Amino acid sequence: MTDIQLVVFDLDFTLWDCGGTWCDHTEPPYQRRGDHICDAGGNKISLYADVAKILHYAQQQQLPLALASRTYQPTWAKKLLQLFEIDDFFEVQQIFPDSKRTHFATIQQLTGVAYNNMLFFDDEMRNIQDVSSLGVKAVYVENGISWPIFQQQLAAA
Ligand SMILES: [Mg+2]
Repeated sequence: MTDIQLVVFDLDFTLWDCGGTWCDHTEPPYQRRGDHICDAGGNKISLYADVAKILHYAQQQQLPLALASRTYQPTWAKKLLQLFEIDDFFEVQQIFPDSKRTHFATIQQLTGVAYNNMLFFDDEMRNIQDVSSLGVKAVYVENGISWPIFQQQLAAA
């Protein structure tokens, strides 16, 4: 059994791909089109293929989830979470431009989970470095989160 009590995800290039860019570079308003979302410029925004499976697995296991994103457009990110219908999976959401250490300090306070019982996924090495220095198990993902990466890291934690 793992000692991970909370899993935290970055958004851009970790949970979703906003057509090769970050969500603060897209053009609202957004429209849901089947399994993806289009922005006003026709840019296609998609969750990585295994995201739904990972979120449902965590929910089934009663493993709490949180978000830490430094996006410059928090309301846009929030809108995307709602349109993808995944907003309710994350009990703490820290979405604003700042160091991820700030996001994690709040996540720690709100959840009461110790840093070394948290697992974090992000696609930027500077965030991995910042957050690992707190004692969080921070995992670098290159092409978004996937089921094998999630499972392996959870099992190995
Ligand atoms: Mg990112």
